[in-house]
Amino acid sequence: MTDYFEVLERDAAARIAQLRLDEPLTTPALVDDVVEDAGSLWPEDRELPEGSESELTILPHRGFPSGTAGEVKESFAVDYPNVDYPSAVVVDAETADDYGADAYVFSGTQNVIGHGRAFRDAVVETREAIPADSGLYLSGVATPANVATLVYAGVDLLDADRAVVKGTQGKYLTSEGEHFLSDLQELPCACPACQQSIEEFDREDCVEHNVNALRAELGTVRERIRAGRLRDYIEGQARHEQWCTAAFRQFDQQWSYLEQRTPVLRGSELVSATEDTIRRVEIQRFAERVTTRYRNRFDNPLVLVPCSAQKPYSESQSHGQFHDAVQFRGHTVSMTSPIGVVPQELETTYPAQHYDSVVTGRWSEDEKQFVADVLEAYLRRNEYPRVVAHVPEEGYRDICERVEAELGLDFEYTVADHPTDDESLANLASTMQGELKFSKREREHNTVRAIADYQFGPGAGDELFDDISMESRYPKLRVHDADGEQLAAMVPNYGVLAFTLEGARRWVESPAPTKRVEIDAFVPHGDVLAPGIVDADEEIRVGDEIVIEGPKAFGVGRATMSGPEMAESTRGIASSVRHVDEK
Ligand SMILES: [Zn+2]
Repeated sequence: MTDYFEVLERDAAARIAQLRLDEPLTTPALVDDVVEDAGSLWPEDRELPEGSESELTILPHRGFPSGTAGEVKESFAVDYPNVDYPSAVVVDAETADDYGADAYVFSGTQNVIGHGRAFRDAVVETREAIPADSGLYLSGVATPANVATLVYAGVDLLDADRAVVKGTQGKYLTSEGEHFLSDLQELPCACPACQQSIEEFDREDCVEHNVNALRAELGTVRERIRAGRLRDYIEGQARHEQWCTAAFRQFDQQWSYLEQRTPVLRGSELVSATEDTIRRVEIQRFAERVTTRYRNRFDNPLVLVPCSAQKPYSESQSHGQFHDAVQFRGHTVSMTSPIGVVPQELETTYPAQHYDSVVTGRWSEDEKQFVADVLEAYLRRNEYPRVVAHVPEEGYRDICERVEAELGLDFEYTVADHPTDDESLANLASTMQGELKFSKREREHNTVRAIADYQFGPGAGDELFDDISMESRYPKLRVHDADGEQLAAMVPNYGVLAFTLEGARRWVESPAPTKRVEIDAFVPHGDVLAPGIVDADEEIRVGDEIVIEGPKAFGVGRATMSGPEMAESTRGIASSVRHVDEK
């Protein structure tokens, strides 16, 4: 039971939380001033401290040197008591468990800091063994250069010990590394300690500066989490320390840990500035869903086009020109790095209209291979009578040719010099001549069904929206059944569907997989809080559409925690409620 720690916002494994002391502390943060360590039990037995609501008390503990045998740890295991004040217990990756504390102090830091893989394994094992709504404390390791990576991994509480020690050694810390004071020609910082000449700046000042720099970096990190953009920052910042770069790449290889914690949609933009972007969860998840859930429902030829900087693509000038040439005679699919391929029905779906990439016109081999793999998987799943590739030479053409060779297909190329020059557009128009146009109705129905497949699973579009009528205009489509009852509405900001109660009932009755949250006997209004949850589907992710059901209520809403976090947490908002019926 965590009484004094509440997670408020999540950005993958990183969180903004509140340590609820007399004076609440917003984490991730330095906790030097509020931690009271009751001490180690090795030298002597210790009385259980009285504790206080104004500090986080680390209960008497026994840490073990690395390599200690399991039996030894077991026989010396501490029987942590349940206390009624804010408390933390000391664990390592092997002894981590739910001890009813508000925070967990990781005791093996010296063995893992500096080693990407060991760090990842230690954090993942510890984090998964302790409750989701408890704080993870890494003591004696934070520096301005590594703290963003520590928080990205899922660490909540830190201290200034290392920054202080470095200062006393005459090492000046910044978010891009460490400098010997004697090597500096100037003080590259505007903090109060640095407001003097470098000649007068001594080691005491250096300590003060190091702590200031650490605090400032934590402020940057907290703001990044609130904006849902810590990953963009990490891809650049972590490069200043090689082990941090190795660490975040190791986390990319530990798919399930980050995937479970990464929202399926968010409002903020995703910036693709490095090749590491391809491996982030949002990108891989989109590619995976497009190639395993999405199915093309048009009978028309496929028209492959390059992406546009403006999103959604259809609102860009270039796509307007492509559309004028194609005129509903082809199914438009955009090729793009780092997303892969985007069928026209999913152009508003997160992150297809939420990314921004650095456009140089040059593609790296990694990018080409990624887009080629996605296009190939897409074409293995979706058959077309013809494939028209209206793509520029650089990068795109190479990708298309690889896929043609792999699948034994022949694409028809229509670009002369540039996709939007007159000759190319005329080629595209004449290539499409004689093809039948699809109707607005067909386009709208297929859009809703494609989004349903993407969002709920393969086949969901047909199972949920077989016989429908449409109201309002794209992209604010409202889906009604044959009798006029509204089932769902398209949310243009994220390109997903939001159910009405009637739609949610059909979802529950359909063969499409449902994401369900079981609640106690009450009728929720506005939000569902974690303590009211009996059980939740493990597959629920932040942003997922969910059915909320209990003895007294049936409702539909959107998850603000993952399923496992809902089931484990004793605090916090688990889900919003859009509509609810009292039973
Ligand atoms: Zn400074």
